[in-house]
Amino acid sequence: MYDAIVVGARCAGSPVGMLLARQGHRVLVVDRATFPSDTISTHYIQQRGLARLRDWGLLDQVIATGVPPIGHMTVSYHDIVISGFAEPINGIDVTYAPRRTELDTILVEGARAAGAEVRENYTVRELIIEDGVVVGIRGAVAGGEVTEERARIVIGADGTNSFVADAVGAETYTKVGAECFVYYTYYSGLSHTEFHSRIGAGQQIGIWPTNDDRTLVAVMRKLDAYPDFRGDVENNFLSIARDIVPEFAEELVSKGKREDRFYPMRYPDNYRRQSFGEGWALVGDAAYHKDPLTGLGISDAFDYAALLAERVHEGLTGERPMTEALADYQRERDEKSQSGFEFTCSISTLELTPQLLAVFRALGSNEEYAKDFFAMIGGGMTGEEFFAPERIAKLLGATASA
Ligand SMILES: Cc1cc2nc3c(=O)[nH]c(=O)nc-3n(C[C@H](O)[C@H](O)[C@H](O)COP(=O)(O)OP(=O)(O)OC[C@H]3O[C@@H](n4cnc5c(N)ncnc54)[C@H](O)[C@@H]3O)c2cc1C
Repeated sequence: MYDAIVVGARCAGSPVGMLLARQGHRVLVVDRATFPSDTISTHYIQQRGLARLRDWGLLDQVIATGVPPIGHMTVSYHDIVISGFAEPINGIDVTYAPRRTELDTILVEGARAAGAEVRENYTVRELIIEDGVVVGIRGAVAGGEVTEERARIVIGADGTNSFVADAVGAETYTKVGAECFVYYTYYSGLSHTEFHSRIGAGQQIGIWPTNDDRTLVAVMRKLDAYPDFRGDVENNFLSIARDIVPEFAEELVSKGKREDRFYPMRYPDNYRRQSFGEGWALVGDAAYHKDPLTGLGISDAFDYAALLAERVHEGLTGERPMTEALADYQRERDEKSQSGFEFTCSISTLELTPQLLAVFRALGSNEEYAKDFFAMIGGGMTGEEFFAPERIAKLLGATASA
């Protein structure tokens, strides 16, 4: 009998397993994947996410993979260019975009080192539910016998198509339709050392460096363009670069060598799911997902894994009833993530509202506020703080009088 079983061992699952094991709980973490292994993600980590890794003692291992630091960001929308970088957030003054093969392995090994049992290549096929309470899992290592494991709580950290969420019938209580699809790949031979995201008419391109001297290049378009895009991926990919960052397209063609396949994804809807019940909880994308455009998913998975581990610890030790602790987890997560969720849903339409357009235009010529904008994205300032009416009035006023 375990105290907790965690289904899924990536950005949400391994941290929650690691933190519970560090508190002395008996933890089993399972994943149908083996590690190292890749997963669909453009893997840019915000400063607040990196601060979590540092606090957990894992950041040095990420840096030791040779992933280059990023110290400058450019976010542009048509002719508006916002450039700069946030002041250090929790002592973190650069960002990184480590490959998931590297990051997720470090997380899995972190959970193991903390004393959690990690079972790779193990697929959960069934939840054991007795009198309406989840009490365990049934599953198997590929080709092996089905085994049964029991725990006081089963945590689904199993991604957007969560088996656990499905099995408990977790209700989706917030849903905002997806707008876009993505294709991304990796190039060698490019000189990009900073983060660049540019939105043009109904399309977006993201460029940043990662491990092995590779540059990640991702393009997004609105969902209605998907059937056409798939017909000729290579040319359509390049044509977005030519349309919205011609100087980069030139470099891509003359110096870049594509080193990998194209990774496609039609985005799932943005949602929040009921994230706890009798004997179960959800964390990471299983619980709450938003468009990847703002790059918040990994950092949110870390933050809310830490929050969930605290609340589950309170429940397991009898400090307070588990259900009450888990209700607090969901409430606090929703409060803290609300502004990021709203901003993400808004900007992922690739068309700014008139108010946001005015703000972006003003940010393009205001270095101090641009820093704050990057702080909001990086986790040093909340959306409520950044968009506080008096601050925005000051920003717009300063631009009008300039
Ligand atoms: C195209 C794209 C780009 C992105 N780019 C960024 C970015 O730049 N920055 C950022 O912060 N976020 C980004 N994200 C979001 C980020 O990748 C996710 O938020 C993050 O991976 C969520 O982690 P997770 O642990 O919740 O789930 P996942 O990473 O999806 O892991 C779930 C795990 O559960 C396992 N699992 C599932 N079912 C079972 C089962 N039945 N039995 C056993 N194991 C199971 C899977 O094998 C998997 O390993 C991006 C997402 C996408 C799709």
